[in-house]
Amino acid sequence: MHQSIKNTFIELFNQEPLLVYSPGRINLIGEHTDYNGGYVLPAAIDKKMVVAIAENDTKKGRVYSVDLEEEYSFDIDSFPPKKGHWATYIMGVVSQLQQAGYVVKGFDMVFGGDIPVGAGLSSSAALECAVGFALSELFGLGISKRSIVHYAQKAEHTFAGVQCGIMDQFASVMGKKDHAIRLDCRTLDFDYFPIDLGKYKILLIDTQVKHSLADSAYNKRRLECEEGVNAAQKIQADVQDLRDISLDLLDQLSLSETVYKRCRFVVEENQRVLDSCEFLSKGDLDGFGKKVYQSHDGLSKLYEVSCEELDFLVDFTRKIPEVLGSRMMGGGFGGCTINIVHEDFVAQLQAEVVEAYQEKFNKSPKFFIVSPEQGTGLL
Ligand code: ADP
Ligand code: MG
Repeated sequence: MHQSIKNTFIELFNQEPLLVYSPGRINLIGEHTDYNGGYVLPAAIDKKMVVAIAENDTKKGRVYSVDLEEEYSFDIDSFPPKKGHWATYIMGVVSQLQQAGYVVKGFDMVFGGDIPVGAGLSSSAALECAVGFALSELFGLGISKRSIVHYAQKAEHTFAGVQCGIMDQFASVMGKKDHAIRLDCRTLDFDYFPIDLGKYKILLIDTQVKHSLADSAYNKRRLECEEGVNAAQKIQADVQDLRDISLDLLDQLSLSETVYKRCRFVVEENQRVLDSCEFLSKGDLDGFGKKVYQSHDGLSKLYEVSCEELDFLVDFTRKIPEVLGSRMMGGGFGGCTINIVHEDFVAQLQAEVVEAYQEKFNKSPKFFIVSPEQGTGLL
């Protein structure tokens, strides 16, 4: 893939580019905990965004998307966000670097990749992180990986208008082959956690739907969680995030039923991340799988960010012994489920799911087998 992106660059711009990549990510467990200052267990994957870049002697950023076959050009010294357009992710990062005092000169860029878009694998974060790293390398800015994570997240906030947590960009940049990242989203302390699933594979099943509720519900959940924290702080002043709240304390708060359910999910999900790490470190994949199912149940019934298609796919696997765990992954209302499936059963499961899903929803899901890979780097 990167060879064809390089060739396109040379055809369009007639010079040798620098090539970098940044991967998409999965999250094993710990959903909607990142913006609540909690724990997550993501990994970078073997699907990535590739950026070819070189300096030009204009004052323009000239960019070509291989996958969309579209070009876009902007004045490097003055550009507004272009919400809803792919170029906004690139300009958002340029803007963040400029605000931090880095000088970004004119550049030519060609980019593309194999991360399914809008499926919850964070193609947007991969694009932002690849661009941040590419600009840093090209212009010798020496930006640390942790800072690239930060600028990429801020670009998503300010230019794309999504108040995302830190997980997506962190996983894309910091990923390590065969490891997940156990990340404390409050302190950004993390450690690499070996992922040895033996004969089990990580199978993603893409519902091929994205319900329009996604963005508005996301911001609403954030506010509901804040309401819970505010109420808890009146009783226990040192509470910073939902993870500081025990279930006992939660029961003492006078909250609406909705806010109670949201908070209960986050409190339990944080604990599930810690429990999952214990299971994984003991090689107890069954124990881990149960936590994965519980995570889905909470997301569906308490946090209420699932949808019919996601619930259907998870429920479909429940009685199958070769599937240890299944849950929706990402923001919700569509995108993928993540499934831990015995390698001998992957093909059969896919065939069965296609048939059942087709019958129920009159469309086919997509499948991706993924593995934990190295984060952002040079090619
Ligand atoms: P995701 O869950 O994949 O991050 P988002 O909606 O946050 O979904 O981001 C998807 C957007 O990122 C696309 O609409 C597009 O603007 C941009 N994008 C992602 N991948 C590509 C690509 N390969 N080529 C062009 N734009 C891309
Ligand atoms: Mg995104």
